[in-house]
Order: sequence, then structure tokens, then C-alpha cells
Amino acid sequence: MGNHLDHTLARYGDLAVRVALNLQPGQRLLIVGPLANGGCSLEAAPLVRCITESAYKAGASFVETLWGDEALQLARFKYAPRDSFEQCSSWFADALTEHVHAGHAVLSVYANDPDLLKDQPPELLGAVQKSVSRAVRPFRDHVSKNGTNWSVIAAASKGWAARVFPNLPPGEQMDALWAAIAKLVRLDRPDPVAAWEEHLAALAARRDVLNARRYAALRYRGPGTELTLGLAPGHQWVSGRSTSLQGIAFAPNLPTEEVFTMPHRDQVDGTVTSTKPLSYGGTLIEDFSVTFEKGRVVQVTAARGERVLRELVATDEGAARLGEVALVPHNSPVAQSGLLFYNTLFDENAASHLALGSAYKFTIAGGEGMSDDAFEQAGGNRSATHVDFMIGSSELDIDAVHADGTVEPLMRRGDWAMAVGT
Ligand code: ZN
Ligand code: ZN
Repeated sequence: MGNHLDHTLARYGDLAVRVALNLQPGQRLLIVGPLANGGCSLEAAPLVRCITESAYKAGASFVETLWGDEALQLARFKYAPRDSFEQCSSWFADALTEHVHAGHAVLSVYANDPDLLKDQPPELLGAVQKSVSRAVRPFRDHVSKNGTNWSVIAAASKGWAARVFPNLPPGEQMDALWAAIAKLVRLDRPDPVAAWEEHLAALAARRDVLNARRYAALRYRGPGTELTLGLAPGHQWVSGRSTSLQGIAFAPNLPTEEVFTMPHRDQVDGTVTSTKPLSYGGTLIEDFSVTFEKGRVVQVTAARGERVLRELVATDEGAARLGEVALVPHNSPVAQSGLLFYNTLFDENAASHLALGSAYKFTIAGGEGMSDDAFEQAGGNRSATHVDFMIGSSELDIDAVHADGTVEPLMRRGDWAMAVGT
């Protein structure tokens, strides 16, 4: 795409700095990739350079990047001693934690091949995920409290593009993926920053209606799905824009189409079936169902990746419970693209989803000030992990249940059943 792509990347860099992070003059910025990969993919370098320029133009005092490389990761799986996969350097986690504790901004740029590690032993994948999750927990906890402004965006990469567009000639796959990403982050609009302001305001209006209703539970019905989940008193619906403890309004994900809150950790019962593959730790988990009793996973089945799913659920006590419930209409632009991205950042915005693992403290009133124990008492789940999986489709109906038992339709055939605002 040549000049056209250069132009797109420059606009994307601006969007990341101005809307996603809302980077403040004088702030420092650290750019990273998926933490289990050790850093930001070298394939994202052209975008990272644009982000760095935009950040300095916005007044950043210092911009740094932690680089990683998938080829190096593959080499580890191929040749490293089998008993070495729990190793993880403390400097890595310490650097991240020190950075966010100082109030600096963090941007994650995902450009990974969802199938990179598909032939690797699940127990080794599990060991890496587990050790990294544990090591970076202080960082994740601080970010989950919105202790600073942070965001996640994506960049195209060859391996990922080949997965999303398997039927295109290899020479056209990267351009196709860049075009898809550009459209879904609204870079095709005349003024992407203004387009995002408008979209974020519409999501906020939906969030406000849900918060005013104070639902006690949600009931899901769809193929392979019959699930009830309780909402804790004080639960807060959250949409695309958050505010950091320093008062900076930022958008944690681009794209974002969801409104979400936390389920009560002990009040999830029934079975839910995935509607999209889950890309987790470099492998895919497909066609899976999870059954809950009193909030806890009691059974999992998967057509592919069942062992990895079991490893995930066994990460720690909280990994077998839910920490997030998110609603995304089937008419969202990501769903309408008809593409399967094998990347949670995009696929979670194409479908209503749930997350196994930790709940965000900001999804309950006063949560940021709660001790871990108080948060758990209030129904919040705690875990070293947080993994979204997609359950929405045009066949999913959701009812909302009030505390007095009355029921109202919330979503029908995957789209909102209630109007907002007008
Ligand atoms: Zn989500
Ligand atoms: Zn999530």
C-alpha cells in the first residue's frame, strides 16, 4: 500500500496517542506487546515509530519500547530444556510495575500470529502463561485499578494476516488485514478522532441506561447455552472510556464496542457455549462449552484445545470463575465485517462475551478503594489471569432480571431489545 499505508499508520499513531491513551504533556510512554511474548513484535515497528512520533508531538517526555520476536519464542519451545518454562525474569515484571506506579502511560500493540505455538505441548504453554501471569500480577493489578492511562491496539503481521485471509494470495494478505483494522478503528472516517468521540458518547449513553436499571441477574439462551449469572449489588456497567486515578480519560481498547460489568463470582449457573475460537497463549481453543455451578467451572469440553482450556481454568482458584460479562450487539461493525480475527481485541468486539479470571475493581461502586478481601466479599473475582471468550451470535437472547423477579428482554437475536436516549 506504500504511501497510503504510511498515511494510515500516521493517523493510527495519532489516534492511539490522542484517543486511546490521551497522553498528557510530560508523561512517559512504554510500548509493549503481549507479555508472554516478551514484548512488541518487530513486525509492528512501522506503526510503533509513528506512535512514538505522535507521542513526542503530544508532549511526551520519553517514549520506550520493549521489543519481542515470535521467532525467538518459537526457538525456546523447540530447544529450551523442558523443565525451564517456569523461568521468567523479575526485571521484566519489575520494569512494568515501576513504570505504571510512577503514573506513566502504557500501550500494548498486538501483532501476533494466533497459531504460532499450535503444535507446542499444552503443559509448556500453560507453564509460560502461568509464570508470566504471576510475575506481572502487581502490574496487572495496578492497571486493572486504572492506576494510569493504558490501552491495547493491534497491528497487522504476516502470520496473523494469513490466518484471517487464508484464501488471498500471500502478497495481498497484509494489505487486506491493514485495511480491515483501519476500517474497524475508524481510520477511514474523514476525522477519526471526532468519529471516536461520537462513538464513545453513544456507548456511554447505553452504559448509563444499564446502570440506572440495577438488574439483579442476566439470563442467556442460545444454541448450547442456558446460563444465569447474578450481578452483585453495586455493580457498575462500564463502556469504552475510563478515567485513570490521575483523572485522565482514556480508551483501554481500540476498537471497542462493548459495555461490561462483573458477574457475582458465586452466582453463575448453567452451561455456555463459545461462538468463536479463542486464541490463548499462541494456540486456539475451538467449539467449547463451560458449565458452572455456584460460580465455579465444573465441566469443560472442547473440540480442539481442551487440554489448554483445562490448564487455563486450573491457573488458580479464580481462573475457574467469571470476572467479566460484556454485551456487544451483533450489528457492531466488527461483527458486520464477517471476519474472524483469531484475536480477542477484535473478536470480543464482534460478540457478547464473558471472561474467566479476575474482575476489574472499577466494575463495582467503590471497588478501587476496596481491599482484595472486601472486593471478593462484594462478589468480585480475583485471579492472576483474565481471558475473554465469545458467546454472542445472532441466535443469542438475553433477559434481564430485576431484584423483584420481573424480567425484561435485553437482547434479542443478538441485538439490543431496548432503545436508548431518543
Ligand atoms: Zn470485554
Ligand atoms: Zn476482558
